[in-house]
Amino acid sequence: MKDVQILMLSQMAPVVVDGIAKHFTLHKAWEHPDRDAFISSVASDIRGLAPGTHYRVNGAIFDMLPNLEIVSNMGVGYDTIDAKEAGRRGLIVTNTPDVLTDEVADLTVGLLLATVRQLPQVDRYLRAGEWLKKPYPLTATLRGRKVGILGLGRIGKAVAKRLEAFGLEIGYHGRSKQDVPYRYEASLVGLAGWCDVLVSVAPGGASTDGIVNAEVFKALGPDGIFVNVGRGSVVDEPALIEALKTKTILSAGLDVFVDEPRVPAELIAMDHVVLLPHVGSASVETRRAMGQLVVDNLVSWFSGKGPITPVSETPYTGSAFA
Ligand code: NDP
Repeated sequence: MKDVQILMLSQMAPVVVDGIAKHFTLHKAWEHPDRDAFISSVASDIRGLAPGTHYRVNGAIFDMLPNLEIVSNMGVGYDTIDAKEAGRRGLIVTNTPDVLTDEVADLTVGLLLATVRQLPQVDRYLRAGEWLKKPYPLTATLRGRKVGILGLGRIGKAVAKRLEAFGLEIGYHGRSKQDVPYRYEASLVGLAGWCDVLVSVAPGGASTDGIVNAEVFKALGPDGIFVNVGRGSVVDEPALIEALKTKTILSAGLDVFVDEPRVPAELIAMDHVVLLPHVGSASVETRRAMGQLVVDNLVSWFSGKGPITPVSETPYTGSAFA
């Protein structure tokens, strides 16, 4: 398959770079100072695209690559790719579901515990020598809380399973009711009013943009904890900051932000929030598995076997290209 040419826009992990280079001819756009000029120079040969992170893939890129067949995305979330437009053009987009589900669910539970029991703050307290003076103040508890999950998909269900084992009541909101033993709320405000912990594992994109808003925080209430591991764009971030400032909610644990890696200074200044730099899937093993799936999707496609994990907007019918 060395005759197949793949374009990588920004630098990805060695498992992806080496894996693609082993099977295909790989063009590393980030190594060229004038990236656009470089892309133009190879554009007509490119049949596969591995975008890397923080790079928007839209109609403008598709226009530049007339022979593109497949975009292999690293990550289950693909809100940086205009998948609808790809589907309209008969292109395939793949993502990396399942291989990261348990890792992200573990992190979510860890972030929730860290937020409710203030683990990073307690650690800072000890290191500052404050324990020598007096014990750390008592914290809130996870006991007896009701957990509302926004986005009960693969990761949401894995979070629910874990929190069930903690003895907590689970509810959820999504666009449809599922056959699960959890309480369904047809509206997000309804879910926030019912629960004490709201966990967002919903994807980014137009349909979720800013849906966790001031009304939701008001419904969550002054004992409420908000945890976000889905996408920053799902939250109205100024409304979240206001809700935290005015104690409309108790606290928040956040792994994702609107304008990553930039995090609002107001959040950084707050001591009653726990902030993580989008590390949900960031273990060596899980990132390796995700990277391998990026490579495997390309290998499978160009071997004529179809994509392994196409996204719903670009379903594989068995007829396109291969
Ligand atoms: P799934 O597609 O399995 O689940 C997504 C869920 O979101 C579905 O249950 C869907 O339910 C719900 N949903 C989608 N749109 C809406 C909407 N408009 N309103 C309410 N609910 C909606 O995805 P995964 O569980 O595998 O991943 C979820 C997200 O987690 C990813 O898209 C990504 O953004 C994020 N993620 C974050 C990571 C991190 O490092 N922090 C790592 C991995 C993923 P329904 O269709 O019924 O509405």
